[in-house]
Amino acid sequence: MKIAILSANSKLYSTKKLLEAIQKRGHEGVIINHSLCHVMIEEEKPVLLYNNQIIEGIDAIIPRIGASVTDYGCAVVRQFEMMKIFTTVKSQAIMRSRNKLRSLQILSKAGVQIPKTVFANQTKDIDNLIKLVGGPPVIIKLLEGTQGVGVVLAESGKAAKSTIEAFYGLKTNVLIQEYIAESNGADVRAFVIGNKVVAAMRRQGQPGDFRSNLHLGGKAETIELSPEEEKAALQSAKALGLKVAGVDMIQSNRGPMIMEVNSSPGLEGIQKTTGINVADLIIGYIEEKIPVDEGDTIGV
Ligand code: ADP
Ligand code: MG
Repeated sequence: MKIAILSANSKLYSTKKLLEAIQKRGHEGVIINHSLCHVMIEEEKPVLLYNNQIIEGIDAIIPRIGASVTDYGCAVVRQFEMMKIFTTVKSQAIMRSRNKLRSLQILSKAGVQIPKTVFANQTKDIDNLIKLVGGPPVIIKLLEGTQGVGVVLAESGKAAKSTIEAFYGLKTNVLIQEYIAESNGADVRAFVIGNKVVAAMRRQGQPGDFRSNLHLGGKAETIELSPEEEKAALQSAKALGLKVAGVDMIQSNRGPMIMEVNSSPGLEGIQKTTGINVADLIIGYIEEKIPVDEGDTIGV
């Protein structure tokens, strides 16, 4: 098989591990920088160009689309989909997962437990919005933030109000969310492939930080999920249509509370923490999904 990793940076841990896993299983691996692809749309024949050459002979793609190029990256993934090439995550699922409001709407509809959240478009009634999610402290989130950067904990009503006003003033929409205090700066990342949770870790933020993101210096340890947590992770990935996903949840007093679902989850933290070769499992999943018959390669 020929498997392409869509990645803007071939030096990233995740990209390197995926390429290694592809080669180890006897396949051909290529890295395609989606932001340098040209999408050609003409009647009946979707074409992708890379370095001025038509992309051909690919059996499967693994999109690793960074948040800064979501739109363009998804257009490229969609083009591969139109060329009937197997993808581990569909463009629509990536788009959905990137918008925190959209994904929370989908998760709540699927019956997944999420923190109480409000989204509003007006500055007049902020006190009431804060009350709606249980009063301060509250969490304020940018719709498309990542790596913990766009998430604020406002301890008092005053702090919440001025922060929300500041965001509105910048014409930026935010979510206002109930603060799950018992998390104590920790959360759980469940790595889902197909219909299984293949690895899980508990992350703890730096002392004094309510955010558990490893990019902000959080520490991780491997954990065994409870059946309830496992179910919530699988249900969330399924609701968003993601076959490969990193599901983040807080172990709240009311059970697992889903925070977000990542469509290009990093491999470094989970592999180094759990010792599980997740990259290899992703390639194994592709093998399962694609007919092995050499004469039957899809998309050629
Ligand atoms: P990002 O996409 O930037 O990672 P998240 O929504 O995952 O944004 O929030 C970052 C971190 O902040 C989470 O991993 C979690 O530790 C903490 N956090 C987010 N929302 C809440 C909440 N409602 N209550 C408690 N902690 C939260
Ligand atoms: Mg997160």
